[in-house]
Amino acid sequence: MDTDELVTAVKDGDLRLHELEQRADADVATAARRQLLADETSADLDTVGAYAFDAATAEPNIENMVGAAQVPMGVVGPVAIDGGAVDGEPYLPLATTEGALVASVNRGCAAIRAAGGATARVLKNAMTRAPVFRVEDVAEASETAAWVKDNVDRLAATAESTTSHGELRDVTPYVVGDSVFLRFAYDTKDAMGMNMATIATEEACEAVEAETPADLVALSGNLCSDKKPAAINSIEGRGRTVAADVSIPREVVKSYFGTTPEAISEANTRKNLIGSAKAGALGFNAHAANTVAAAFLATGQDIAQVVEGSNAITTADARGGGSTSDASGAASDANESGGDLYASLTIASLELGTVGGGTKLPTQHEALDIVGVRGGGDPPGVNANALAEIITTAALAGELSLLGALASNHLASAHEELGR
Ligand code: NAP
Repeated sequence: MDTDELVTAVKDGDLRLHELEQRADADVATAARRQLLADETSADLDTVGAYAFDAATAEPNIENMVGAAQVPMGVVGPVAIDGGAVDGEPYLPLATTEGALVASVNRGCAAIRAAGGATARVLKNAMTRAPVFRVEDVAEASETAAWVKDNVDRLAATAESTTSHGELRDVTPYVVGDSVFLRFAYDTKDAMGMNMATIATEEACEAVEAETPADLVALSGNLCSDKKPAAINSIEGRGRTVAADVSIPREVVKSYFGTTPEAISEANTRKNLIGSAKAGALGFNAHAANTVAAAFLATGQDIAQVVEGSNAITTADARGGGSTSDASGAASDANESGGDLYASLTIASLELGTVGGGTKLPTQHEALDIVGVRGGGDPPGVNANALAEIITTAALAGELSLLGALASNHLASAHEELGR
């Protein structure tokens, strides 16, 4: 059927909106849906329809497709990193609508380069899925938890029978009265791994049900915890736990941020540490989610997992030089004797991949090619580790830039100049 025929069939009630791909190829179905929507809402959808990829490639990623939401993409870098997995000095594409964000992160990247580069490491790799089981009472709950602790190897063999890449690393039982939660943690290599972990856990749950009094109630019991603010992810990690740090000479702080290490350190302590504590926050950082979200959008990650990507702590200290008393910011003389700036960012739960999910889409493919981490790594896992180190270092750059702007009092003027 052509576009007009599809439109007529839907209007006549002969075809439902989600059935169009059964009668036409994906691009024709998409055009017909756009036409129907435009007729009903009077919206002009020309730009939504001006996408530059074959709609069929997006079929695993979207239903009722009408086009594409095109978000501007910029680039930062080179990002200078001594990483555990990063090779060279990559650029990082960022997709955002927040003016000044790319400029800000890029300024931080330039300062990191001038300082000789950052160091970054993936500290942990554990995508989790935590099913919830019903038991009769706490005695059965205790029996179930004990069996699981004694049978992690057996559960690993069962779970890993569903995947040629995933490895079950641990299963932690949590008991609440007559509910038992089992938090399965997997090394998912280059995949973000949420589908992989869910399929593997489903298989393992059958063994738990066969061998214990527990009955599965839900494959996800929210202790995982996916796409919701949760302290467990901040503490135990989820996906990749990644840390990046840098030592920036005092004169570099002055020339890039117009302030001193002491002023940046004070802004970090009072804002990111004390202010976040008073707010009861899980993320003790300035705006790590900004860089994480923009990098996730550009590279095809599951954007809702920015929730976990904001579980990050920024530290900033003046080190060496003997002077720690001057915290007066831009007005101070940064060339007088004083310490250099040590800063770090540790993201507890950065959930990303270079295979699977949205990474397969053409635009996102190209973005991953910019970074040099498209597809599976050799050995598996190294590409996703590299992407995690790069995003964390760029987020550290964003932290430095915003703290520098606050410490030198020019945040508002930067937004006025670049974002309005
Ligand atoms: P996926 O696209 O479902 O699967 C990725 C698969 O790629 C792996 O299972 C693996 O197959 C294969 N693979 C090939 N080379 C690999 C390599 N080098 N490293 C790792 N795997 C490799 O992606 P996913 O990462 O598991 O899940 C991401 C998707 O899940 C996203 O679309 C996300 O939106 C969605 N999601 C699902 C849930 C859920 O509850 N199911 C929740 C949130 C998000 P083998 O396993 O056969 O080895």
